[in-house]
Amino acid sequence: MTLSEKIIRPEVRALAAYHVPDSAGFLKLDAMENPYRLPAPLAQQLGQRLAEVALNRYPTPTYRVLKQKICTHLGVPPGFDVLLGNGSDELISMVSVACARPGAKVLAPVPGFVMYAMSALFAGMEFVGVPLNPDFSLDLPAMLAAIREHKPAVTYLAYPNNPTANLFDAGQMLAIIEAVGNDGVVIVDEAYQPFAQASFMDRLPASDNLVVMRTVSKLGLAGIRLGYMAACAPLLAEFDKVRPPYNINVLTEATAEFLLDHIDVLDQQAALLRRDRAVLVAALTAIPGLTVFPTSANFLLIRVQDSDGVFARLLDRKVLIKNVGKMHPLLANCLRVTVSTPDENQLFLDALRASLAP
Ligand SMILES: *Cc1c(COP(=O)(O)O)cnc(C)c1O
Repeated sequence: MTLSEKIIRPEVRALAAYHVPDSAGFLKLDAMENPYRLPAPLAQQLGQRLAEVALNRYPTPTYRVLKQKICTHLGVPPGFDVLLGNGSDELISMVSVACARPGAKVLAPVPGFVMYAMSALFAGMEFVGVPLNPDFSLDLPAMLAAIREHKPAVTYLAYPNNPTANLFDAGQMLAIIEAVGNDGVVIVDEAYQPFAQASFMDRLPASDNLVVMRTVSKLGLAGIRLGYMAACAPLLAEFDKVRPPYNINVLTEATAEFLLDHIDVLDQQAALLRRDRAVLVAALTAIPGLTVFPTSANFLLIRVQDSDGVFARLLDRKVLIKNVGKMHPLLANCLRVTVSTPDENQLFLDALRASLAP
């Protein structure tokens, strides 16, 4: 037996390493990043601010100022607080670790965000995926049946969903939150909220089992790694116990505090992307033989005749998108592409047209 066979859990050894392609030299439309940088004067000011940060000190363990700014600027209801994560990926992992009692299960619609299942597996919890309908709406009867059968400790609903880009029906989500009731938490993952302009944040006071999770990544700050989640105080207090004490570094803390005071800049960038999303949808809809699914996010899901071929030909043209065609049967021949600047969207459209008719 090799050393890894002896000590590494079999389910970990069975995993393929998470593969992030090297995108140097590519038009990068695979990861839902905001293509816009900060305006130069603001970046200058931020640079000065960061130069003053005491790098020799640990962060303030409470992150009180940053949390307060998040609560006031990002619409957390009065009386509710947030817990911070090194990206929402870390929050997902904290929830899993905290809830991984023997036999505890995680439930989510599929296709969905892969980290829900991965994180459950890392924590030793069973993941139950409930297929969406072919139009990517929730299969409510199937969800309710799965909740009755599995009594999930954690249920995830991404709003909008990734990779399908659509918003689930809010009434059906409420039915799920009610069905889970006192037996589990329902995490509404609003990573794409700036592009959806719809939220469950206001429903927090009505549901003790609701957690609203967000990130600043898709808003334009993917590099700083900051996520937050809001929920009732007793739940947050428990999740906080499994949080690594200094999980938000001082540079992220200072950057976020500074930029939350200039949130209008990021909001304007999101508004541009929403506008250009409509332009891109219209252009794609006009291409015969291609389906564009409804989107409330900063990316589009499209279906072509042969996603592997189109993806490969786009790569030849130095355009990197995400081929999700093999991720789930419902996604057969689907590709996911990030909405970018007008210029980059046009480059993508030209490359796509050429790749559809090789
Ligand atoms: C991108 C994404 C996240 C992860 O965001 P980070 O804060 O960058 O870790 C979470 N949930 C969904 C649905 C996403 O698409």
